[in-house]
Amino acid sequence: MAASTPGTSPAVPPDARPRLTVLSGPSGVGKSTVVAHLRKEHPEIWLSVSATTRRPRPGEQHGVQYFFVSDEEFDKLVANGELLEWAEFAGNRYGTPRAAVTERLERGEPVLLEIDLQGARLVRASMPEARLVFLAPPSWEELVRRLTGRGTEEPEVIERRLAAARVELAAESEFDVTLVNTAVEDVSRELLALTSVS
Ligand code: 5GP
Repeated sequence: MAASTPGTSPAVPPDARPRLTVLSGPSGVGKSTVVAHLRKEHPEIWLSVSATTRRPRPGEQHGVQYFFVSDEEFDKLVANGELLEWAEFAGNRYGTPRAAVTERLERGEPVLLEIDLQGARLVRASMPEARLVFLAPPSWEELVRRLTGRGTEEPEVIERRLAAARVELAAESEFDVTLVNTAVEDVSRELLALTSVS
C-alpha cells in the first residue's frame, strides 16, 4: 500500500464523507422551520429546491422555497428523467431535481432533502447510503393544532393533509433516526450533526 505523500491530504475515509440526508415526516410537523433554522446558522448546508405544481403561498418565491411549475412542465421533468424522485401529495406533485443533488455529492458536499414519505422511500431504493431522518411531532394533538393553525389552507386541504399525516406517522420505523420536534434549536442541532458526519 502506498504511503501518503507529505503535503497531500489523506483520502477522506468513506465513513466521514458528507452524505445525503433525507428529512421527512408528516405535513405540519415543522420540517421547513427546522431546515430554515439550520440553514440560517449553517448556510454551508445545501438544501435541494424541489419542483412543485402547488401554487405559491403568500411570500413564497420561485427558486427559493420551490420551483413552481405547471402540470405540463412537471410532466416534462418526469419524462426527461430530470427528477431523482417525485410524489403526489395532497393533490399536487413535488420532485427533487436530480442534477444539482448529484453534482454536490460528487464534489463531496453534504446534501439535505426535505421531502414526503413516498419520496424518502424512493431515495432509499435508489441511494441506500442515504440517511433517512424522521421528524416526529411531540403528540398527535400538537400536529393537528399546527396543521389547523397555519391558516393558509382550505378545510378540505387540511383534511387531506391530516389523512396523509396518519399514514406518515405509521412509517417511522422505516427511518434510520427519529427526531422529536420539541424545540427547533435542539432538533436543528441534532440534524446538523447527522448531516455533516456519518
Ligand atoms: P408543502 O406543500 O407543505 O410545501 O409540502 C407538502 C409536502 O411535500 C411536505 O411533506 C414536503 O416535505 C413534501 N415535499 C416537498 N418537496 C418534495 C419533493 O421534492 N419530493 C417529495 N417527494 N416530497 C416533497
